[in-house]
Amino acid sequence: VQDLLALLRPHCPATRDAGALAAASTDKSGLSATPELVCSPRTTDEVATVLRLANETPFVVVPRAAGTGRVGGAVPERGGVVLDVMGMDRVLEIDVAEQIARVEPGVKLGELQRRVEELGLCFPPDPASAKDCAVGGAVATSAGGLSGAKYGTMKHYVLGLTVVLPTGDVIRTGARTRKSVTGYDLTSLFVGSEGTLGVFTEITLRLVPKPEAAATLAAWFDDDASARRGIDAALRVRATAKALEFVDARALAAVAAHVGRPEWGRRAALVLVECDGAAEAVERELSLYETALAAAGANVERASSAQGRDALWAARRAISPAVTARWPHRFAEDVCVPRTRFVEMIGELHRIAGEHGLQALGFGHAGDGNIHASVLMDRGDDEERARAKLAVAAVFRRALDLGGTLSAEHGIAMTKREFLPLELSAANRAAQQAIKRALDPRDILNPGKIFPGS
Ligand SMILES: Cc1cc2nc3c(=O)[nH]c(=O)nc-3n(C[C@H](O)[C@H](O)[C@H](O)COP(=O)(O)OP(=O)(O)OC[C@H]3O[C@@H](n4cnc5c(N)ncnc54)[C@H](O)[C@@H]3O)c2cc1C
Repeated sequence: VQDLLALLRPHCPATRDAGALAAASTDKSGLSATPELVCSPRTTDEVATVLRLANETPFVVVPRAAGTGRVGGAVPERGGVVLDVMGMDRVLEIDVAEQIARVEPGVKLGELQRRVEELGLCFPPDPASAKDCAVGGAVATSAGGLSGAKYGTMKHYVLGLTVVLPTGDVIRTGARTRKSVTGYDLTSLFVGSEGTLGVFTEITLRLVPKPEAAATLAAWFDDDASARRGIDAALRVRATAKALEFVDARALAAVAAHVGRPEWGRRAALVLVECDGAAEAVERELSLYETALAAAGANVERASSAQGRDALWAARRAISPAVTARWPHRFAEDVCVPRTRFVEMIGELHRIAGEHGLQALGFGHAGDGNIHASVLMDRGDDEERARAKLAVAAVFRRALDLGGTLSAEHGIAMTKREFLPLELSAANRAAQQAIKRALDPRDILNPGKIFPGS
């Protein structure tokens, strides 16, 4: 380790400080492992040198941004060097006419959103972690969020990347243009690659004009059947809401207890809709949703002022802290199904948990079929955990049966890799691992992530 420190220090800031090692040992998956060193590069050249030395020596390198990932992507499970990119935090350019931003990977996503909004532009992907997570990590997981139904996820906004390959070679992918089919689409390959194929040191992002107006409605349901009818009707509305969110009764009860709003806990479900765009269109589209949801039996509240909209979103925003406080031991997954099967999947989640003697809760992005599905544990002991894991596997299988996928936005990394064969055939996995071997012949960059047994 001392040799490694002596090797790296002339080329890149590196430390073995206990605090730095502890901070770099975990993310928001709850998994942890201690690295040997933490490197904090400031330039593409420094990243390239670390990776070249990693190949020659060899040693393992794990890219890390803000450490808010949910699946262990930044956890150095095999030790080695954590490459912390948070010092590369410059917004290099915002070109208003081209509607492009060029940033380093350590820029916080919320900071980027704020900076472009000041210029009348908008960066739509909005994970709930936006104020804490960094662009580099969000690109590496193709993060999404509430606005996915209308605006998509990170992968729809990355125009180009500067990537340090695992060998230390530096390439640029994509272009500054809206269109480009020059060669293979390597940009898309790197987005969502969870730190296994290269380290992004510069990211070019597409921006959109800031919408003129936005309005929100909250539809409260008193029974499950009406809520199901409501979601079905909302999905048939001839408009694309920016957000179409669903919260089930158990999540509402947890929020009600957490924030002291007992009336929320008596409801069977909450559906939230937000429309944005030109003011007239927003009013018209939101009215279509209001009519559909009211006809299904909802009590509807509507707001267009920033303050009023904030109040309607309060219950949805409180879910994560409320549920974490009540069930610190739980499996929280992010399966995605075709959006017309969203309500069915929520029902299946509860059925499966019940069959395993457990409870579940579900909420998420009904507009794009992405369910945040939690299997809950009260004790979190080995026996209960084993049962919950079986339930999670059954939830994954059911989501796949319905035409869905294991992960909508968090990724696979460590927590879901054992389930990968449920979705990807052996030939598919072999093709993906061949790409990994071609780019990373010595298997030094975040080895073992995504693919079990690799
Ligand atoms: C409270 C909370 C709410 C969340 N809400 C959402 C949500 O709504 N939607 C959503 O999609 N996700 C959500 N997430 C998880 C989400 O994956 C992360 O917030 C974010 O995408 C990761 O960013 P990060 O900077 O923290 O990356 P990290 O956790 O540091 O890293 C994530 C992955 O990216 C890789 N990586 C990091 N930097 C680079 C780089 N420069 N080059 C190559 N690879 C790199 C790492 O190796 C790792 O595999 C949430 C997390 C929390 C804790």
